[in-house]
Parts: sequence; structure tokens; C-alpha cells
Amino acid sequence: MPLPYASEALEPVISRETIGFHHGKHLAGYVNNLNNLLPGTKWEDVPLETIVKQADGGILNNAGQILNHNLYFAQFAAPKADNKPIGKLAEAIDKQFGSFDAFKDEFQKKGATLFGSGWVWLSADEEGNLLITQEPNAANPIQKGFNPLLTFDVWEHAYYLDYQNRRPDHLAALWQIVDWSVIEQRFTS
Ligand code: MN
Repeated sequence: MPLPYASEALEPVISRETIGFHHGKHLAGYVNNLNNLLPGTKWEDVPLETIVKQADGGILNNAGQILNHNLYFAQFAAPKADNKPIGKLAEAIDKQFGSFDAFKDEFQKKGATLFGSGWVWLSADEEGNLLITQEPNAANPIQKGFNPLLTFDVWEHAYYLDYQNRRPDHLAALWQIVDWSVIEQRFTS
């Protein structure tokens, strides 16, 4: 997936340098790996989501990381003051978590306490209930039957150049760049 904004668009929350490595090297690496693994397998012409739900081994790991990063990079926009959810999603967050602030606290806590590499997710179940989950390594909530809405990448490559060991500071800053119109669209479609 091409980056949907300029590589410096998310500064100062995420630097141009981090975006360059994260999108241009890490994601590109997963894409190259998968393109090398797929030829001659039954997964060659199968949608990415189906591969993530059904495959295993290296194909699953690389497909999962591609799907996760596609959702991740597509959900951001330039920093905005007082950035917050809109529409039906805002109502659902208030109903489920009490308030946007309470939701942010729980989401950040789950991101900060995820041991090792992985992703923290906001998803919706089949009834539209919201839930926050920690997923290790390349896992995605679609493997549990959930609709993934928002994700923060807690692999060190996502923040180490800008925040070093301060993962909680990185997570707290990301709220400025979430494009809630994208998250709302994922929730209502
Ligand atoms: Mn990443």
C-alpha cells in the first residue's frame, strides 16, 4: 500500500525518518517476503484477509504484518488539537467505556503492558460491541471473528528512533494523529 500522506505529515508525533524505515523498509520487507513465499502455493490468488484467517507459518506471519500495517498507516492524518471520535463510533465508545478519556486510558495501558512485540486493537464484535485486545507479533482480531477498527503498533521499530524506550509516551502522542473519519467508516461499513 502506498503511504497515503507525505512522510513528514505526521510530525512531530512520528518523524519522517521513522515513517521512512517503518513503511519503506519494514512493511516493504514483509511484502517482499510474502511475494517470495506465495508462488506455487494455494494462497497465490487469495485475499489477504483470508490468508490471515486460514494460513500458518511464514505465510501467515508476513500476511498478518502486511494487513496490520495497511490498517495502521491508513488510519493517520496530520496532528490535530482536541482530536476525538465522531458520529456513531463516538456514541459507541461513550456507551462501552464511559468516556473517550476512559477508553484512551485502557487502550494505552493495554499497549504499554503488551510484553514483547505486537499490536493493541480496538475492534467490534458481530453485535457491534467494542473491545480492546492485545495481539502478539503479527496477529489480527479478524482471526477471532472481530472487525478491526484502530490499532497502535508496539513493535520497537514503530517508535524507537523518536521515543527510544518510552513506549507509553509514544502511545499517548498517537491520539493527535488518529483520523477518526477512517475509524468511523470501518465501524459503520
Ligand atoms: Mn510495524
